[in-house]
Amino acid sequence: MIYADNAATTKLDEGALKKMLQCLEMEYGNASQPYAFARTSKKILNEARTQIAECINAKDNEIFFTSGGTESNNWVIKGFASLHNYDCHIVTSQIEHHSVLNAVKSVEALGIAASYIEVNAGALLDKEIFFNSLNRKTGLASIMFANNEVGTIQNVEELCNYAHQKKYLFHTDAVQAIGHIKIDVKELGVDFLSASAHKFNGPKGIGFLYIREGIRLPALLDGGNQEYGLRAGTENTAAIIAMATALENNCNNIDKNKRSVLECEDAFVKELEKLNILFVRNGSVHHLPGNISVSFPETEGEILLHRLDLKGIYVSTGSACDSMRTQISHVLRAMNLDAQIAEGTIRISFGKDNTKDEAIAIAHEIKNIIEQIRYMS
Ligand code: PLP
Repeated sequence: MIYADNAATTKLDEGALKKMLQCLEMEYGNASQPYAFARTSKKILNEARTQIAECINAKDNEIFFTSGGTESNNWVIKGFASLHNYDCHIVTSQIEHHSVLNAVKSVEALGIAASYIEVNAGALLDKEIFFNSLNRKTGLASIMFANNEVGTIQNVEELCNYAHQKKYLFHTDAVQAIGHIKIDVKELGVDFLSASAHKFNGPKGIGFLYIREGIRLPALLDGGNQEYGLRAGTENTAAIIAMATALENNCNNIDKNKRSVLECEDAFVKELEKLNILFVRNGSVHHLPGNISVSFPETEGEILLHRLDLKGIYVSTGSACDSMRTQISHVLRAMNLDAQIAEGTIRISFGKDNTKDEAIAIAHEIKNIIEQIRYMS
């Protein structure tokens, strides 16, 4: 098989798997218990927190373990809204992940005002609109670091600086970026940053939220006193140590991995050109390495996905067909992509284990499928 859907999830890092199994087998003590056996679990948690903090230039007490990106995003938005008695303005973008968009919708229903900023054809946020959308009541801006569908990277540092000048807080959903491109929270200046382990070769169901020291955020979950009293629930020690190991491995190899996925990306695009396949590349020049959103005119992305699936090639689509019509994703709609082009969109996301030969094989299979579709219609 060829797995090229690394933006959906990634293969577990070998070192992380080893640590996880060891922990599950040997160190199953509850980190909150005071006896000697559980102290090892506590130590594992503390070391993992330090390891993660070092990867993003944060302090240990700024890292809070969560169940993943969805929880981290919900925590920031719902926590912030409740802290302000649902009487505040939140700015976000039209292309955020649904864990941000739906969380904002849910606090809007309780009284929060929200603005959803437009993006240009490359999915890059319109800075002018962002600056002009901030008003007296704005308290929080939530803008993703890199888009999951088309890979576009926003200028978070600049947007955050502006928000801070106006005395607003800034959150970024860095789920797609962390472990793949360098992230330094101090350089960026962000107040909150969401991360999810399964996007950087860690296990599923674990992630973290960075909360800048001194920033208040009420708990999302009530219960025990874990995570400085801010995130209740017995810590998943095995998943946490695996997340820290995977993040450290990825961060130590960022340049090497980047070179390798860029080689795959280049090989794939060049092969499409060589094969004379008509295609449109979506997103901005400044994008996540290896994330390729590509549209094939007069083709349906969902058909491509299923036919590739039959050949053991796994990619994603930007549209879904139901019995009535093709639904184009909110991201492609926000980019104002022509509906007919958007319907033929797939996302290929290469990871560190992919090879150039695999990239070339995908291009050839796409050509075969497009020819078959043409022949049959
Ligand atoms: N944010 C972005 C940009 C994502 O791509 C995803 C997952 O696809 C999430 C948040 C949600 O993360 P999780 O799967 O850990 O809940």
